Amino acid sequence: MLLTTHALFGIAIGETVPEPLVGPAAFGSHFAADMLPHFDHPGIYRQSSGLFGRSPMFWMVRVGDLLLAVLITILAALIWPERAVSIVTGALCAILPDLLFISRVVRGRDLWPRFDYFHRAIQWFERPVGIVTELMLAVPVAWLVFSGRLM
Ligand SMILES: [Zn+2]
Repeated sequence: MLLTTHALFGIAIGETVPEPLVGPAAFGSHFAADMLPHFDHPGIYRQSSGLFGRSPMFWMVRVGDLLLAVLITILAALIWPERAVSIVTGALCAILPDLLFISRVVRGRDLWPRFDYFHRAIQWFERPVGIVTELMLAVPVAWLVFSGRLM
């Protein structure tokens, strides 16, 4: 699932859940979301090895997605400064499991192989067409998050 979608769920949790529970709830939301059909594209992974051997699609999708996730998190925190800590905590914890994949991208091997095996195993439907279901989730959540209806 895209980091932007995970971040949206994390921001929504940050806007609604009592502060001590934001981190665990957002972290858990990552795995629940990954179990749903979602986007991925095999072209992203066509590369030699290491960070700089990645395909242009990798840079467009993965890095663009990360930048968009950061941007919407900052935007939500600026709109609701009284919940900024919860919003940033929620977004960070919601994308954290995917950030652990950075080890595989940069070093070519998993940081925690058992965790990564579990994380990959729950993602039973990762295909380009998964963007449809992902948008069906992300757009309403984005509307809820940025309309202020969760505050
Ligand atoms: Zn994931």
